[in-house]
Amino acid sequence: MKPFIYITRKLPEAVVAPLKSEFDVEMWEKEDAQVPRDILLEKAEKASALLTMLSDKVDRELLQNASYLKVVANLAVGFDNIDLEAAKEKGVTITNTPDVLTETTADLTFALLMATSRRVVEADRYIKEGKWKSWSPLLLAGTDIHHKTMGIVGMGSIGEAVARRAKGFNMEVLYHNRSRKPEAEETLGVRYVSFDDILAQSDFVVVLAPLNTETQGMFQEDQFRKMKNTAIFINAARGAIVNEAALLQALKRGDIAGAGLDVFETEPISEDHPLLQLDQVVALPHIGSSSKDTRLDMMTLCVENIQAVLKGDNPKTAVK
Ligand code: NAP
Repeated sequence: MKPFIYITRKLPEAVVAPLKSEFDVEMWEKEDAQVPRDILLEKAEKASALLTMLSDKVDRELLQNASYLKVVANLAVGFDNIDLEAAKEKGVTITNTPDVLTETTADLTFALLMATSRRVVEADRYIKEGKWKSWSPLLLAGTDIHHKTMGIVGMGSIGEAVARRAKGFNMEVLYHNRSRKPEAEETLGVRYVSFDDILAQSDFVVVLAPLNTETQGMFQEDQFRKMKNTAIFINAARGAIVNEAALLQALKRGDIAGAGLDVFETEPISEDHPLLQLDQVVALPHIGSSSKDTRLDMMTLCVENIQAVLKGDNPKTAVK
């Protein structure tokens, strides 16, 4: 019997063809809806490999009953949806998709920053709703980006790519990680500061840290109060890094000026969520890495990782 591979979302046939020639492959048939939990559990029980989305919970319950499972290839660089400890105990290899999405996600992060500060979405809505009656001096006046200070919380691969873009806009770039990056400081001209200094000094606070036990809820009322009241907060990492209720209050009180969000505590966020009622919030449906080329590269990398593990080789991008 051929090993069974379950793919939790409908992917293009051309991408999965190499797997189909060697393995018994099944895909959840929908492109735009998540596989129900009970089906995922049932498929995992007989699967040697799973190709998962960041919205699929690969937890202890799933892993405990997956007796044949050798590899979970997650279509994302983040792996906060996976219980790594349980996977290690069970000897299941976890892979992710770093690097191939770095530049694309940096583009989107910068686009979100620009759209929020220059009110691009509001302006588009304004003109399409027929509200543009005359040119006026302060019509939809936004905030400058060039020569301002960007503070990156979690400056890894994507953060560095965002920093390079910021340098092209003559911005000063500060960053805060758990450890310093002397090489990046030298080559990119970025400056390491404490988390509190990022909050106090930045015109744009950009979050690009992974979601883990240390970063969960890192941004609370206190952190927003420490920011400039002209500051714009950008989160292109994971929603749970931010207490959304605190962000909402900070925006309403005017502790900060705006927010650009690609990620949310609960995804999809409901359309009547109070954050979405605010003009100073630009919201995107978690599309950081979503360019056609990059998504294809990510899918291909997942396929290659599965092939490698099932053949007994090392995968290209295992999560350590
Ligand atoms: P990466 O290269 O691993 O960078 C993560 C950085 O975060 C590292 O420099 C790390 O440095 C820092 N970090 C970790 N824990 C921290 C903490 N407690 N406080 C401050 N900094 C911390 O990852 P990446 O490829 O740049 O991706 C970053 C994250 O972006 C991913 O984990 C994912 O959740 C998110 N992402 C979102 C999208 C999207 O569609 N919106 C797309 C891709 C990625 P230290 O270890 O020194 O702290």
